[in-house]
Amino acid sequence: MEIHGTAAAELRAARLLGRRVGVLEHRFVSIPDLKEARDIEGSRWLSGEEVPATYIPMKNAVFYSMAAAFAEERGSHRLVGGHNLDDRRAFEDTGEAFFSSLEKALLASSPRLRMNGLKIVRPLRDKSKAEVVALAARIRVPLELTWSCHRAGEAHCWRCDGCASRVKAFEGAGVEDPLRAGNG
Ligand SMILES: [Zn+2]
Repeated sequence: MEIHGTAAAELRAARLLGRRVGVLEHRFVSIPDLKEARDIEGSRWLSGEEVPATYIPMKNAVFYSMAAAFAEERGSHRLVGGHNLDDRRAFEDTGEAFFSSLEKALLASSPRLRMNGLKIVRPLRDKSKAEVVALAARIRVPLELTWSCHRAGEAHCWRCDGCASRVKAFEGAGVEDPLRAGNG
């Protein structure tokens, strides 16, 4: 699958990390018609506040439904999401109400998923980004392979929201970012 733009770097990082931890089957699915809020003209919440640029309408309803389709096909028992506490504060589709309803809806749609006792688990849901970085450093996640930048490129720009959030999280955790070491 040929991907360009910002997604290319995220996919590269996902491939490298997947390989490092011995993922048996790593599927990448293209959903080209889903747009980020920054590409949708005049996108605002009902409250009138501006929607975060990285918001994608119905993102997790779509992504988890696809994951559930694979789970049904493969007979899996768990869907694992990496959402953290900061995500839950920003996006309704990473919160408790959303996931408990979604899990019920998925189970109601498939006897096979019910038989397998499918659950959606989110081990990082109560941790801030800084706590996630601290945990990652403790269990020796290869942080040099991770990607946070919202812009396309070979290296992080250190100016966008994604990079700013990464810097803040590493600083909060008191962990040196291997990607910034020697770069200031
Ligand atoms: Zn950046």
